[in-house]
Amino acid sequence: MNECCGVVAVASRNKVAENIYIALMALQHRGQEAAGMAIFNKKIENFKGLGLVDEAFKRINLQEINGNVGIGHVYYSIKISSPENAQPTLLQTPVGEIAIAHNGIITNWKKLKEELMEEGHSFLYGNEEEVVGYLLAKYLEDKSIEKAVKSLMKKIEGSYSFTLMLNDRVFGLRDPLGIKPLCLGEIENGYIIASESVAIDALGGKFIRDVMPGELIEITPDGYKSYKLVNEKHKAHCFFEYVYFARADSVIDGIDVYKTRERLGEILAEEHPVDADYVVPIPDSGRAHAYGYSKASGIPLAEGLMKNRYIARTFILPTQQIREKLVQMKLNPVKSIINGKKIVLVDDSIVRGTTIKKIIALLRRHGAKEVHVRIGSPPIIAPCYFGIDMTTREQLIASNKTIEEIRKEINADSLGYISIDGLIKAIGIEKNNLCLGCVTGEYPVKIEGEKYRFQERLEKWQEGK
Ligand code: 5GP
Ligand code: MG
Repeated sequence: MNECCGVVAVASRNKVAENIYIALMALQHRGQEAAGMAIFNKKIENFKGLGLVDEAFKRINLQEINGNVGIGHVYYSIKISSPENAQPTLLQTPVGEIAIAHNGIITNWKKLKEELMEEGHSFLYGNEEEVVGYLLAKYLEDKSIEKAVKSLMKKIEGSYSFTLMLNDRVFGLRDPLGIKPLCLGEIENGYIIASESVAIDALGGKFIRDVMPGELIEITPDGYKSYKLVNEKHKAHCFFEYVYFARADSVIDGIDVYKTRERLGEILAEEHPVDADYVVPIPDSGRAHAYGYSKASGIPLAEGLMKNRYIARTFILPTQQIREKLVQMKLNPVKSIINGKKIVLVDDSIVRGTTIKKIIALLRRHGAKEVHVRIGSPPIIAPCYFGIDMTTREQLIASNKTIEEIRKEINADSLGYISIDGLIKAIGIEKNNLCLGCVTGEYPVKIEGEKYRFQERLEKWQEGK
């Protein structure tokens, strides 16, 4: 499975390898497990490695890679063990070479794979991207690229922001609901498509616009061409991008991520006021929320927790045991701020509850008088099927507990989550255009055994009506 990765595509009059590398570094927060790039130089060459971007490409001399078009990927899943499984996925097909970098999850990919196998297809990797690539190749045998992609979109369901190469041509494609972000920019001597606008910033480029849900864009060194393939009435932008996943300095679908987090904090302060000495963020993810809480409540903000920035994100570490130890290696309290004080502790989200529990214990050990927890997302009660790593109800502390039960379990003096209405207000996108699956249990795509938020127009279109 793919999960919440980062993708990029560049077309330029200059060589693109270094640009892709820089863009991937700007998207590093979207995946730390592996990185890869595919670059066209007479044929498509694929470079992949495990780890962070600098680690993954350390044996490659970027300056020696020729080629003016390419795509790149940073990989997020915890299930990867060899660079083979990293992306882009490169396929040899009857219509030529296809390379695919994917952010999202195709929810019906296994069924589509079986259908292809019945038609006599065999698979090299057996992954989602291979299914997508072969389907696309099949449609390309007698169709133009936009018609073939349209046929592909009628088949695949779920979340996808792709960057794609078909021989020397390079494209970006965003699913009809716009679940994952994707945007377009201009850079020196060329054009770029990337998961987030920070990748364009990192290249000194100019943001043009978001790729629209249901839109295919081809970029060349001289411009871009848009094919609006599907126009679904309601979108389903993932709210968690705004709350946690995206970089705070990105702008997604016209919404400034930092400002949204600050507003989440302000609304939290209105919904759950408390008397305290300091507002303390859980770094780094809770910073902007804490700033907003402090601003709205008038309680001073203090960096009462220091982070060892050289330790990787706890969430992606393999076992619960290591995860638990790492929280305390990673965060250490500033005693003078914590000792004897009433603290409002602010974070973006509680998923399993591991992080917050450990931190509260740490603050108490260091003499905190009261710890009031405020969370910038509603309780996460249901799994994400579209790419955020919270895939089963059992993992989720809020899936079968009341707020009061959670408060007791994490040992907080009080606990306040932002409401769903507060969340929607902070983001400023209407409810019908957001995916709120993990906080409502209602999904914009059909998932077996789950409630479905009906997307009428998309369904009709997919059925060809
Ligand atoms: P918990 O310990 O409750 O499972 O995780 C909550 C913490 O992990 C929060 O501080 C939040 O910032 C972070 N977090 C939430 N979702 C994700 C995710 O999908 N990936 C990673 N790496 N961290 C996450
Ligand atoms: Mg965090």
